Amino acid sequence: MVKQPGEYFVVMLVAVNQAKERVVAAYHKSAHEIRSKYPPGSLQCPFCGQGVFPRERKGFVLHFVHQHSCTSNIARHPESPEHEEGKLKLAKFLKEQIKDDPEQNATVEVEYHLPNCGENGRIADVALVYKNGNLLIAECQLSQITPDELEQRTRDYHSIGADVLWFLGKEADTSENRAWLRSVFGAVGRIDFKYDPA
Ligand SMILES: [Zn+2]
Repeated sequence: MVKQPGEYFVVMLVAVNQAKERVVAAYHKSAHEIRSKYPPGSLQCPFCGQGVFPRERKGFVLHFVHQHSCTSNIARHPESPEHEEGKLKLAKFLKEQIKDDPEQNATVEVEYHLPNCGENGRIADVALVYKNGNLLIAECQLSQITPDELEQRTRDYHSIGADVLWFLGKEADTSENRAWLRSVFGAVGRIDFKYDPA
C-alpha cells in the first residue's frame, strides 16, 4: 500500500508494552511519566509491532508516534487534535454507561483493532469490549462524510455483530448526516470542541 504524505506522523493514543498490555498515553500525567516507566524500544505499535515513543505537542492530547513509519495496511489517516480529544471524550461517555456494572463485564478501549471489519480491518475510535466477545463501537466523526459512507461503515460494524454509536462534529455535522442518523438510530450523537488548536 502506498503511504500518504504525513502518514509517518500518524498520532496514536495507544501502544502495547512488552507484556502485550495496552498503554493509553493520555491516561498518564505526562510524557515524562511514560518515559520514566518504559525503557526505549519497549513500547510498540499495536498494528505493525514497530517501536513508538511518547510525544507531547501543544494542542494535542498526549500520544505516541512511530520511530519509523507504520507498516500496517489498516485504513487510517493522520488525525486532528480534535479527533484525538473526541476519542477520549467518547471513552469517558462509554465508561459512564458501565460504571454501575458491579461484574465489570466490559472494558472501554480506545483505538480498538477490528481485524475482520471491512476490507483490511478497521480501528474503532472507541469500543466497549465485553468479556464474552460482544462489542459496542463509538465513533467520533469530524471530517466530511456522506450518509452513504456512514451507512457503509455501519454495515461493516454490523457484519461483525457490533452496534455503533456515531458522534458528529465539525464538517461531519451536516443536516443530511443528522437526518440519516435520526432515521436509522432515532438519535444523533454530537460532539463539541471549545478549544482552538492554533
Ligand atoms: Zn504501526
